[in-house]
Amino acid sequence: MDRYQKSIKLFAEAKELLPGGVNSPVRAFKNVDRNPVYMDHGIGSKLYDVDGNEYIDYVLSWGPLIVGHAHPEVIDLVQQTLVKGTSFGTPTELESEIAKLIIKTVPSIEIVRMVNSGTEATMSAIRLARGYTGRSKILKFEGSYHGHSDSLLIKAGSGIATLGLPDSPGVPQSIASQTITVPYNDMDGVRIAFKKFGEDIAAVIVEPVAGNMGVVPPKPGFLEGLREITKQYGTLLIFDEVMTGFRVGPNSAQGRFGVTPDLTTLGKVIGGGLPVGAYGGKREIMENIAPVGKIYQAGTLSGNPVAMAAGLSTLRLLQQPGVYDELERKSKLLAEGLGKNAKELDIPHHINQVGAMIGFFFTGEQVVNFETAKTSNLEYFKHYHGYMLDHGIYLPPSQFEGLFMSTVHTDEDIERTLEVQYKALKALR
Ligand code: PMP
Repeated sequence: MDRYQKSIKLFAEAKELLPGGVNSPVRAFKNVDRNPVYMDHGIGSKLYDVDGNEYIDYVLSWGPLIVGHAHPEVIDLVQQTLVKGTSFGTPTELESEIAKLIIKTVPSIEIVRMVNSGTEATMSAIRLARGYTGRSKILKFEGSYHGHSDSLLIKAGSGIATLGLPDSPGVPQSIASQTITVPYNDMDGVRIAFKKFGEDIAAVIVEPVAGNMGVVPPKPGFLEGLREITKQYGTLLIFDEVMTGFRVGPNSAQGRFGVTPDLTTLGKVIGGGLPVGAYGGKREIMENIAPVGKIYQAGTLSGNPVAMAAGLSTLRLLQQPGVYDELERKSKLLAEGLGKNAKELDIPHHINQVGAMIGFFFTGEQVVNFETAKTSNLEYFKHYHGYMLDHGIYLPPSQFEGLFMSTVHTDEDIERTLEVQYKALKALR
């Protein structure tokens, strides 16, 4: 393990200082039984660790870096903004600039509020939905992640469409019992839930492409079905596009699938690597939040100028013609190559790809929800991940996370990735 000497030393020290050595659990590489790699810097599609190893990066800071690491235009606008001061706690022009771009491109968003993370965005959207409808229950899908707020850190109860159980100690049962959980892509389950609880459901929150059980696309008719039933019951439909926003198409997932929710949450890409989230939607609903309305939500650093600069410059780069076609082409090239290698080596696998999101599962089953995602061979995944890491390919350290493509990955990067993947799969046999 000479290759990771400094990372090993740094992690040993960090474990004395931070719980588990990290500030976000997945970074500890627990699922893959490895020492996490400490990164020093990134350029384009590559990451460089503190021991000087180079990696082709498919994690991209868990999604935000769709234009790659340290893109010159992003760094330039951030630097220009930074030297003027880090925060004023007043409105700034940059907030309106990024809002214009979000409103122009995301079909459901007429008006938008910036926050500091995806968790804050979904938590605030849920409060707004409850305040607006005067109802308390929400419906989410099994295996979906919407950040770590109490109402959303809920796993399924037993049986179909039952009230949820806390997914973590510290989440009161009284809060968990307000969240209904249904399997992803299961419209029948949704109908049963609405039959039982429909008049009390404030909102349905859904990842329009699930990205937190690996990548799982919506079945044809699923998003349309949600739109229809929520309309029927006066329930708000929230698309959590924290991951899919500006990643699966120029008009995000709602544009790609042609279904317009009432509210949308964003994060990741819109912050270009700085801490940003947002929620937006119909003016009539959004103007119930303070200071126009009575539903309270605020933030000392919300709309921070440096963060807005990183997000704005990233979104501007994504407006160039052909960007999303090229992201789709490269993502397909990688997904098809991964599948071809696995097929040739007779490794059970299933691949889902939507725009610049790719899920590679070690299972022969069609992956359509969390249940089927969990049929993956996690021992295979662990060894595969380790081999890829040791040979310079940085993958998410969990079977239940997707791979991300950026505008700056090259065909050579993909070719190299596929060469290593072939050997990694061969080593599994
Ligand atoms: N929603 C979705 C769909 C996400 O993928 C995530 C984070 N992976 C979140 C919400 C939470 O975002 P954050 O980590 O910025 O709080």
